Amino acid sequence: MRAVVFKELGSELGVEDVPEPTPGASDLVLRVKSCGVCGTDLHVSSLPPGLPAGTVMGHEFAGEVVEVGRQATGDFRVGDRVCALPYIGCGTCVHCVTGDGMLCASMQSTGLGALPGAYAEYVRVGANEALRLPESVGFREGALVEPLSVGLHAVKKARIAHGANVLVIGAGPVGLSVAVWARFFGARSVVVSERAAGRLELARQFGATDVIDANREEVGPAFEARAGGPPDVIFECVGVPGLLQECIGLAPHRGRIVVVGVCMAPDTIVPAIAVIKEIELAFVVAYHRDDFQLTLDMFARGRIPGAAMITDVVDLDGLPAAFEALKTPSTQCKVMIEI
Ligand SMILES: [Zn+2]
Ligand SMILES: [Zn+2]
Repeated sequence: MRAVVFKELGSELGVEDVPEPTPGASDLVLRVKSCGVCGTDLHVSSLPPGLPAGTVMGHEFAGEVVEVGRQATGDFRVGDRVCALPYIGCGTCVHCVTGDGMLCASMQSTGLGALPGAYAEYVRVGANEALRLPESVGFREGALVEPLSVGLHAVKKARIAHGANVLVIGAGPVGLSVAVWARFFGARSVVVSERAAGRLELARQFGATDVIDANREEVGPAFEARAGGPPDVIFECVGVPGLLQECIGLAPHRGRIVVVGVCMAPDTIVPAIAVIKEIELAFVVAYHRDDFQLTLDMFARGRIPGAAMITDVVDLDGLPAAFEALKTPSTQCKVMIEI
């Protein structure tokens, strides 16, 4: 089958012929229909140590079942439309059984070096990790369930009080997902700050009550002017050094900071300022199976937007160039591969 593979640090991804996956006893093989490009893919493929040569990335995907393993659970049939959590767990430990397979001791991630991902015509997934798409949910939305679930998990962790004022820093796919769910879970104000002007309008479509162009305004005073007070909860959705300290500065006494952005470099904070303010600082990653299900359900009922974050659609041949373009700031938000 055709797949887009990582070669080495500093060189473009390449389109190659690779062996088709065969399902293990408890697996499914999907014909990939849609797969999103994630910021994590950019990070892991452009920063040392890189990925093993030949790695197929792609962990935000949906497709059609073409093969079902002998002992696959869930009664899946050829032709079923599904998305899947991007890992395969043992299927029997308490974490796997309760939908928290990210914690499974033998968990292998999909599309980040361990198991091949969905920048390909076919991908192997665990039946235990697969979820059916409701009839009204298309493959593109199916591929957006993963990034939307990242936002959902972060917002759940933030325990937003009804009527709280929320600041979201960054309007990339993760920031947009956080904004959607913060509004959904009862925030009064959801103010999104961002430096890429093109993304501010997207933020409004994704639940922001107001936006701040961080190139032109100071975020603290701008937030207060819009929300009428300081942010009760701040979501850091960018992941660059210096931003944590900025969040600590912006937070009021007993404010809460939730870090969703993945900063790969060492960062410095002055703990005393956070101590004096009694700031709660939480780091979050990934999701639970329930987050995937709720996202699917809310897509099906038309209660959250999704597709508007897709700014570019490419095929496998167009992916290497689109992937390179994403490395420099532009108008792109979510790049979607259609296969
Ligand atoms: Zn992702
Ligand atoms: Zn397990």
